[in-house]
Parts: sequence; C-alpha cells; structure tokens
Amino acid sequence: MEFGEFADTAAEIEALSADTDIAARVTTLFENANDDLPVLSRFVQGRVFPAWSSRTLDIGPSYCYEAVARAAGTNVSADDVEARLADVGDIGEVAASYDFGGQQGLGAFTGGGGSGSGGGDGANDLTVAEVAEELDALAEAQGSGSQDKKIDILFGLFNRASSDEARYLARLVLSEMRIGVGEGTVRDATAQAFDVSVESVERALQVSNDYGEVARVAREEGEDGLEAMDLELGRPVQAMLAQAGAVSDALDDWDEAAVEWKYDGARVQIHHDPEGLEWAGGTEPAADREVAVFSRNMEDVTDALPEVVEHVEEHLDVPAILDGEVVATEDGDPLPFQEVLRRFRRKHDVAQAREEVELDLFAFDCLHADGTDLLRAPLTERHDRLEAVLDSGVSDLWITDDPEEIAAIEAEALEAGHEGIMLKRPSSTYSPGRRGKNWLKRKPDVETLDLVVTGAEWGEGRRASFLGTFLLSARADESGGDGGFETLGKVATGITDEELADLTELLEPHVRTQDGQAVEISPEVVFEVGYEEIQESPTYSSGYALRFPRFLGVRDDKDPEDADSLARVERLADEQ
Ligand code: AMP
Repeated sequence: MEFGEFADTAAEIEALSADTDIAARVTTLFENANDDLPVLSRFVQGRVFPAWSSRTLDIGPSYCYEAVARAAGTNVSADDVEARLADVGDIGEVAASYDFGGQQGLGAFTGGGGSGSGGGDGANDLTVAEVAEELDALAEAQGSGSQDKKIDILFGLFNRASSDEARYLARLVLSEMRIGVGEGTVRDATAQAFDVSVESVERALQVSNDYGEVARVAREEGEDGLEAMDLELGRPVQAMLAQAGAVSDALDDWDEAAVEWKYDGARVQIHHDPEGLEWAGGTEPAADREVAVFSRNMEDVTDALPEVVEHVEEHLDVPAILDGEVVATEDGDPLPFQEVLRRFRRKHDVAQAREEVELDLFAFDCLHADGTDLLRAPLTERHDRLEAVLDSGVSDLWITDDPEEIAAIEAEALEAGHEGIMLKRPSSTYSPGRRGKNWLKRKPDVETLDLVVTGAEWGEGRRASFLGTFLLSARADESGGDGGFETLGKVATGITDEELADLTELLEPHVRTQDGQAVEISPEVVFEVGYEEIQESPTYSSGYALRFPRFLGVRDDKDPEDADSLARVERLADEQ
C-alpha cells in the first residue's frame, strides 16, 4: 500500500467522531491491507513496533525538527520548526505546512533506503512497507554517529513525503498519532474484517501482545489459528494487575482468600529456557540467551539484573515464564522501591551497583511451566507449579477464610518491612493486562480511631496467661462528660506476643469483674485502632461494629475522656 493511502485513511478517521464509524473505517483498511496488514495494524494506533518489543526509535523531538527543517529547504532551521510548533501545537500540522521534496543532502543518498531525492513526482512514492523498513533502520542505529544517521533517515522520508504523508509520518515518529484509534478499535476491527470472534482476538492478543501477528493469523487461519496462538518463551505478556480492596470484600465474595505479602519492589516477568530462548526479548533472536527479564511495562531489563539471571539459572531447570517482584535489600531489610528502579535503569557499572544493593526475587506466579501454558489454570495450581519448578525465591501463599489469620500475615509483612498484603481469588485465572477484582491490594486504613478498652478475654494455650481479645468502646458523649461508653468491636489482631505481655501488665490492675475467660475492665486505657470499615450492627451497644479491627498501639498520651466519641464514629460511618 502507498503510504499516501494510509495517510488519507488516517485523515478520514481523524475526522470521524463515532466509535462505530472509526471501527468500520479501520475494518476496511484491514480488509484492503494485503501484506501490509501487520504494519498497518500498528501504524493506525501510532505504534511502530509490536507491543511486546523493547525496541524504540530512540529519537528526541529535536531530531525530528531537524529532519523536517532539512527537508523543508535551506532557509528553514530546526528553530523555525520549533517556533511554528509552539504556535500550532501539533507536529503533524507543522510538518504538513512545509513544501517538501527535492532537497539534496546526505540523507538523500545514504538514508531513505538509498532511494534518492525528489518527493511527490510519482516515481518515488513512499509505501507503507518502505516507511516501516526505514523506521526499523532508524531504531537500529545506535552508538556514535547514530544521531546523524537517524536524522538522515528521517530526512530521507520527509523529503519524499506529501503534506498529508508528512503530517502522519511526524506524528507516528513522535508517538503522537492521536486519530482516535485505540487497542479496542483494532481488536474489534480485526474481528470484523476477518470474521472471527472478539473473544478469540482478545485472547490471542493477551498471549502474544502483537496486534500485527494477531491480525495476520485471524485473516489467514481464522478462529482456530487464533485459538492455537500460545505464549512464547522470550516474548513478554502484560502483567496482571490488582485493584484496591478490603479483606471484607475478599471474604464476602470468595469462599477463601489466597493471601501473599505485598512486596515493595518492582515487578518482573522472567522467561527461561535452558535450550536458549526462541524469542529474543524484543530485539534479535538470541539462542544463546537462557533467561530474559522484563519490567512491568515489558522493557527488557535482563542486563541490569544479573542476580536475577543467576538465581534463575541456578534454581530453575525447565522452560518457564514466572511473574514476581524484585526487592532491593540491605542486611536482609527491604529498601524503598526506588532503589530497585534505579537498578533497572542502570546500563553501566552493573557489577558495582550489584555490590551496593542486594536484589532478592520473590516469584508469585507461573504462566508457563515445562511445555504447559497456565494462564487458564487456577491460581492455586499455578502456585503449585511454581513451587515445583523453582526451588528458591518463591513467595509464600496462604489460603484462609479467617480474618485473624489474614491480619497476622499482614502484621508479619509490615514487620518485615513490606507494604502489606495482596488478596487473590484462589480459583482465578491469569488475565494479562487486566486490573480486575481477582487480585486486591488491601487498602490502607482510612482513619484510625482511639478507643477505650472496656473488657478483654484471657487467651488460650500458649497465651493462657495473657489477656488477648480486647473489647473496644467509644465515648457515648460528644462533650467528653461522663456519659459512659458504648462498645463497637473487639480487637485481637496486630498484636505481637511481647505486646500481649505488656498489655496484660497494663490492663490487669483495672480488671473489675471476671466471668469465665471474659473480664470487665475499667475505662482507663486507650488503644489506637485501624479498621477497614464501620458497619451498622446489633452486636454491640453502640449499634456499630468495626470490620477488621487491628491494634496499632496504646495511646499513653490520652485519657478515656480524650478517646473518640460515638458521634465521630457515626460521622465516619456516614462518610464511607
Ligand atoms: P500497585 O503498584 O500499588 O498497583 O500494586 C500492584 C503491584 O504490587 C504489582 O504490580 C506488583 O509489582 C506488586 N506486588 C508486590 N507483591 C505482590 C504480590 N504478592 N502479588 C502481586 N503483585 C505484587
């Protein structure tokens, strides 16, 4: 296809506003695409390379201004281009405003695929394939002198472009296509053009991250071809994402929750094949590479993380794709996640960086193991496979329906210096790129309450000599007078053994009465308590109950008169 035809289509699409009209126009483009289908499916979204690829053009806007200026003639400078851009605000408009063609220059001979100069005369019309090839060469140029080479190539392209072509070329190159075509449009247009279901296109996109390949397979092999598309070792997929949620959400909606620590690090997807990875992690075939590591946005970070590579080589024997978090540590304690991100960006002196911070891997999922794709397997099965293939560096996972146990896991995670916990639906499949309800990152507590301890229960077993579960009350009176206290919950979680001993010592002198395990305590001591939610409930005298209350500390500085009132509890409940 001529690049001019693509530019005309892009202009038509840009003028449309209804999503259905846009999808219909993209559908026609795909139907008429012939061999250019893969490239067109990307260009129309403003993408040059497949989504899985780590390749970038690696050109700043200034290169583009320079190339436009050169193609526009000797009396135009990059500064002029920039000044016009400041006026107009769209590099496409600016590029379209010049009259290109016929400029001689280095690029006319060395760039532009050696295609010479003289735009718009028909003989040198740009094709979509040529633009793709030239942009490939542009991305390829690296190292010393690459800047000139990139500008030359771009100049060669602009020099042959008509106004409309220049408009969309400039936008494509600077990732500013903005004609209203998103991933969903391309998915729907692919399904429509080649008469396959949206679901199968969607699934194929999830496993391949390659709009071009999916469109080609849809056209040539139909639904069956799409269904047969699988994960490839070395080709990254989008990470499954989490949304904020509460323990109560998880336990209300699922029978049980899978609970993991939420590590404060950076996400990695690890591809491993002892025979050598078939895909090169985005660039070239690299059969000599056994491990590739990708960041959350699918950038290839393998070279920056030799520890992870070595860990995998040592502890994993089979082909696999793992998902996990890398955490920077010092003397075993996690450092803020910025430290890991710094390591991800490190290109030089990696060996030295490695001496400065230690990196630990916590793998928590397994997308492929030893020839089997596991995206559609339940989380519990994926985790079992993970433990079976990786013999060190696997994150613990607990399955429970007990809020106390969840709170204890969270307390441990926080104690160990991590962020908190993740709650996952044990039966859920792995959905790349999705932020759904199957993975919840537990919301931090909204506001804490300072509540008076008015009762407690003696513990059991190992904790028999300690007061354990504490009854919490709010002041009944707004004014701080002696209106008494109303109960609203019990807290037993978030307390270490050591704290239990201290709390027992602190509260025992205030015990008023005892009935079996339960004791009544004079209102003397104030606890700071976290919770997820305040619910109306007949269980307690206040008419409210705290969901998932956790002990945060003793407010030594507060007397019971200074504790939170029932009125505040009511206000907080209303605001939820
Ligand atoms: P956020 O970045 O706050 O949206 O939280 C989601 C991120 O938490 C994920 O992308 C991971 O990088 C990270 N994370 C840490 N621990 C886990 C875990 N056990 N399971 C899933 N994601 C985790």
